[in-house]
Amino acid sequence: MSTLEIRDLKVSIETDQGTKHILKGVDLTINEGEIHAVMGPNGSGKSTLAYTIAGHPRYTVEGGSITFDGQDVLAMSVDERARAGLFLAMQYPVEIPGVTVTNFLRTAKTAIDGEEPSIRHWGATVKDAMGKLRMDPSFAARNVNEGFSGGEKKRHEILQLELLKPKFAILDETDSGLDVDALKIVSEGVNRAHEETGLGVLLITHYTRILRYITPDFVHVFVDGKVAEEGGPELAERLEDEGYDRYLVAQA
Ligand code: ADP
Ligand code: MG
Ligand code: MG
Repeated sequence: MSTLEIRDLKVSIETDQGTKHILKGVDLTINEGEIHAVMGPNGSGKSTLAYTIAGHPRYTVEGGSITFDGQDVLAMSVDERARAGLFLAMQYPVEIPGVTVTNFLRTAKTAIDGEEPSIRHWGATVKDAMGKLRMDPSFAARNVNEGFSGGEKKRHEILQLELLKPKFAILDETDSGLDVDALKIVSEGVNRAHEETGLGVLLITHYTRILRYITPDFVHVFVDGKVAEEGGPELAERLEDEGYDRYLVAQA
């Protein structure tokens, strides 16, 4: 069984005002096949955690560790992380001018698997995966993220999940900007990957809405760069009723 282990993680960034300490000692263990929700108020460091796992150069690890089956993730390049089976859906995905969705996905698949998928079947594979997400077939020929609506960006992320078959997915605010129908389709995609391939999920979200469709096994509440509370799905239900006020009062 694969395990992603985060120990006493401390992360800072350089700003015009100097060094800003964002993560102040985060501990989190995710096993294959588990769904973990990371919730918390804006600015608590949720995206910083996602970017750090993905290896974004802006974030400096000051201490602690991230390991994947005992391997040092922090020592791996971004490509190596992807090949090891980590998938990060960016909160603000970038445009890739001149590269179609089909070609982007084939390149990513080749990089991750170490061999090119059969050209003969690739088109059909993409089409089939798009069908499951109820995406228009013309989407495959569009340039990556160019003029994508919020919902299309999210579906494109889930399309990558379907095709690249990572072991762990870190999904940052995948619910933001989705209407209820798109939210259901995206959630179904995550649940399908979870059920079919035992995908482990770190689902980062400010709101509890998506947790009506994706049931977490564990919920972690982030406040000021640390895990302030942990529990099961019932914790998400309580947050839906009470919000984050309690934690912010305790902090002040
Ligand atoms: P969350 O995702 O929980 O809203 P973030 O991880 O995005 O929180 O941000 C945590 C804190 O770090 C915030 O105070 C935010 O303003 C700051 N921060 C994060 N990234 C940057 C950055 N690139 N430049 C300046 N400040 C940043
Ligand atoms: Mg489950
Ligand atoms: Mg964020």
